[in-house]
Amino acid sequence: MSVDEIAAPPALKAKLSKLGLARRDDLVLHLPIRYEDETKLTPIGVAPGDVPVQVEAEILDVSVQFRPRRQLVARVADASGELILRFLNFYGSQTKQLERARDDGQRLRIFGEIRHGFLGAEMVHPRYRVVGADTPLPVSLTPVYPTTAGLSQAALRKLILPALDAADLTDSLDGEWRARHGMPCFADAVRLLHTPTPTVFEDELQARTHPAWRRIKLDELLAQQLSLRRAYLARRQKGAPVLAAPGTLGAKLLAALHFRLTGAQQRVIGEISSDLCQPYPMQRLLQGDVGSGKTIVAALAACQAIEAGHQAAFMAPTEILAEQHYLKLAAWLVPLGVEVTWLSGSQKKAAKRASQERAAGTAQLVVGTHALIQESVDFARLGLAIVDEQHRFGVAQRLELRRKGGNPHQLMMSATPIPRTLAMSYYADLDVSVLDELPPGRTPIRTKLISDARRDEVIARVRAKVGEGRQVYWVCPLIEESEKLQLQTALDTHAILSQELAGLRIGLAHGRLKAEEKASTMAAFVAGEIDVLVATTVIEVGVDVPNASLMVIEHAERFGLSQLHQLRGRVGRGAHDSVCVLLYQTPLSPTARARLKIIYENTDGFEIARQDLHLRGPGEFVGSRQSGLPMLRFADLESDTDLIELARDLAETLLREAPAQADRHLRRWLGSREELLKV
Ligand code: ADP
Ligand code: MG
Repeated sequence: MSVDEIAAPPALKAKLSKLGLARRDDLVLHLPIRYEDETKLTPIGVAPGDVPVQVEAEILDVSVQFRPRRQLVARVADASGELILRFLNFYGSQTKQLERARDDGQRLRIFGEIRHGFLGAEMVHPRYRVVGADTPLPVSLTPVYPTTAGLSQAALRKLILPALDAADLTDSLDGEWRARHGMPCFADAVRLLHTPTPTVFEDELQARTHPAWRRIKLDELLAQQLSLRRAYLARRQKGAPVLAAPGTLGAKLLAALHFRLTGAQQRVIGEISSDLCQPYPMQRLLQGDVGSGKTIVAALAACQAIEAGHQAAFMAPTEILAEQHYLKLAAWLVPLGVEVTWLSGSQKKAAKRASQERAAGTAQLVVGTHALIQESVDFARLGLAIVDEQHRFGVAQRLELRRKGGNPHQLMMSATPIPRTLAMSYYADLDVSVLDELPPGRTPIRTKLISDARRDEVIARVRAKVGEGRQVYWVCPLIEESEKLQLQTALDTHAILSQELAGLRIGLAHGRLKAEEKASTMAAFVAGEIDVLVATTVIEVGVDVPNASLMVIEHAERFGLSQLHQLRGRVGRGAHDSVCVLLYQTPLSPTARARLKIIYENTDGFEIARQDLHLRGPGEFVGSRQSGLPMLRFADLESDTDLIELARDLAETLLREAPAQADRHLRRWLGSREELLKV
């Protein structure tokens, strides 16, 4: 047992470990979620309802009543009024205690929320304490800690207060820097947050805007920056092939395209190209809104690797998406003499073996699903790994990919934009390129919110669109809990629409179709042989059919914002006026309403992502990327932007000039978890 470990009986230790508390440092950083004000007494007669108050009263009588169910009822009063206390769960000893207090003329100090009901003022399950006439009131706010079943606030406090005295609270930042940025020292900050002094402004403490809170948030963000930047630098120590090339292959590809690159695409390609010429691996995240043209950027990067005599791998999280990429990349590159190979989990054995052999041999570009890393694939000379929709891949998978091919350059792409603050914090171990410009000539998509009660009108609209020669996507409701139900819903929707839209050609695409069926359905839709494509979210990404100008999404309230944005991005790809109809089921919950309003009012993916972050917090965005890395507990990505920037600059300085200080800081905040970050 290390000196820093918490000394406690095993049962208590088990509860503490549920809260992530193993060391004294963890206790020091186990900070209150809020504070209760027990420094004041409110007269019962003027106490407001439904907010926490503290009153002090004499006990008038105590009884156990049985209506409507067994409960302990105490009637108490102060000079201003009477109050009923109700306890539905209670011990016999509690009844005795209250009776004795009543007989001795002692008083109760009671903390809780008053309800003004039919029978007058009452509190259910208040916290209370028997006090004498002259028991002093606490002089400062009482902290309330996050806890778990069977671990009382009092028990936590009994552990935390001594830990504060015993732990090493030495500052990891120097005094001069702190003074310059108006930051209190660490020891003062944690002491104040655990045991606030009477003079602290309650609002600042509750709202976490007090300088002591700012210090803690800064420290937390600093630990995040330090660990991610250190991992970044460590990966940079490893060598990678220098992929310098004259650029002839890329130039040929550009010449064959029917469009010219946007300024943003040119800038980003420049950034990637110079990374690839370095003798250490690129670790770059390419961000851009739906339709901003990330694929061609990736293709040009692949050209550079190939021309330099190396292989490129392109990995996508789903079969449909990977296949779309394969078809597109092959159409671009095969005519230029590049050997492009397809590799996926659903391939027949012999075909897969052939692909694996090509990957280990002559293939120049290998496109596929995560089969690329799972199966026994050994790349002959992998120089560049491109990962689409990187957030769907976990740290472990990315690590595996790197192991497969020595230490290739990595280009990660995000299908949906990531808000800037999130990129700056959770993605601090990557360089970021942003495509902030859409290719010209896109027709804006109109979004309509329509209640499911008006489904008939929507059906009529679909018919009219098809009459004009356009095509339609009909997206089935999302059923997250069950893939089987999801499939059934798709089949049902297809059957219903086939009746409602009799005479039209209705197709069906879902995740369970065989690869060939899926491919032939998609091909038929592209060729205009299907009028209405009923689909699950398999069409979420990548699919590109310019003649499709109407999308209907059923039960839109069940989808996530970025998913809706992705789906909507499937229309508006041609010259036709495009519409996305979001059908929703009433009544809408307030959050669902807020989400639909955001998607209705915005078309900019970055803005949608920002608002989504506001609604849902970073958890959903970060996904499996985070495994091992703790989420931020104190800092808030929206309101603490200045601290994120401060932490980023400070981390750079510490890593360069004071690595021992950086170590100390990381030990305090991450302890043993730091090992997980080495990947
Ligand atoms: P995303 O960033 O969502 O992956 P894609 O790479 O699929 O976007 O590109 C969307 C569509 O825009 C594709 O049909 C692509 O060929 C086309 N495209 C890409 N760049 C340009 C450009 N500079 N001008 C016109 N069209 C472009
Ligand atoms: Mg894409």
